[in-house]
Amino acid sequence: MMKRILVTGGAGFIGSHLCARLLNEGNDVICLDNYFTGNKENIISLIGNPHFEMVRHDVIHPYYVEVDQIYNLACPASPVHYQYNPIKTIKTSVMGAINMLGLAKRVNAKILQASTSEIYGDPFVHPQPESYWGNVNTIGIRSCYDEGKRCAETLFMDYHRQNNVKIKIIRIFNTYGPNMHPSDGRVVSNFIVQALKSENITIYGEGTQTRSFQYIDDLIEGMIRVMNTDDSFIGPINIGNPNEFTIMQLAERVLALTGSKSKIVKLDLPSDDPQQRKPDITLARNLLGWEPKVQLDKGLGKTINYFKTKVL
Ligand code: NAD
Ligand code: UDP
Ligand code: UDP
Repeated sequence: MMKRILVTGGAGFIGSHLCARLLNEGNDVICLDNYFTGNKENIISLIGNPHFEMVRHDVIHPYYVEVDQIYNLACPASPVHYQYNPIKTIKTSVMGAINMLGLAKRVNAKILQASTSEIYGDPFVHPQPESYWGNVNTIGIRSCYDEGKRCAETLFMDYHRQNNVKIKIIRIFNTYGPNMHPSDGRVVSNFIVQALKSENITIYGEGTQTRSFQYIDDLIEGMIRVMNTDDSFIGPINIGNPNEFTIMQLAERVLALTGSKSKIVKLDLPSDDPQQRKPDITLARNLLGWEPKVQLDKGLGKTINYFKTKVL
């Protein structure tokens, strides 16, 4: 049956893929965005579809609509952009969550929160299971994002316990792919753009810190499966690729796959940069029968092809 689905942050990297997939599955999709880091080009191929609607709106303000499901993605995700106006970032996470939960409560919609591996901070437990409470600085430069997202999880749980709102919390680990903005600032897009432009590859610190990179298609599949679980399942649930790489290894893969002659340079490591990150996806495997299918070289190849059309 056709559902009416609201995607906040729908013009961003993840949101644009989600809108396309939900439309393909025969739903009516409302893409809400303030275009802070998202842009209309990401959804240009959807414009004109009578089941697709765009709304320019900021989630820190109340929004009234009648929908069956809400995916709450509105929030800048790249450290460069979420640190540009940190007060706005935390307002977006917290006030945005309150407004979207208020909306879900009023219309009895199911609501999924795009939470993040950042809630584990610089983790002492490795890999990170959902039961780990994390190691997060409350007063650092990443706190506007990390604490905003942690508070949003708290709000989701309290709206569920207090008002019976149907919630799902997913914790997304580093995801990459087409539709990332060339100046997004996250590591995968930075390295690819630098390699394609023959600019220096900027490693922050020694490049020994690790991340586990998930290709966008795997995330979208996991996200939709979580939304469609029984109402009794609320999460949180990790959605990520457990293959872990150092940032130096990532730079080497990008250089090999682009055939670039770019040089690697080392810059200062920003404060509070997590040393390691890798999801424990046992829960997702058991509950959803889901696991990532696209490994790093293949996903990087597709992403490199996308950026060739943007920067060359
Ligand atoms: P993105 O920056 O490309 O997308 C975020 C979108 O939200 C943009 O379109 C932006 O314009 C919009 N937005 C920001 N503030 C808004 C506001 N106040 N009102 C309305 N719209 C607003 O980032 P992304 O990678 O697509 O991330 C989407 C969501 O997934 C974010 O909530 C992010 O925290 C979460 N997430 C992403 C990753 C990842 O690796 N990509 C990892 C963990 C969590
Ligand atoms: N809200 C919204 N859309 C709705 C319903 C509520 O944006 O359809 C906002 C509302 O403005 C409020 C917030 O969501 O600020 C929380 O709503 P809730 O009903 O939980 O709280 P209350 O209105 O009682 O403060
Ligand atoms: N990073 C890097 N060079 C860049 C961008 C990022 O070395 O040009 C590093 C960054 O310091 C971090 C890792 O890559 O250790 C992942 O950074 P990103 O901003 O992509 O995501 P997050 O730190 O939020 O996981």
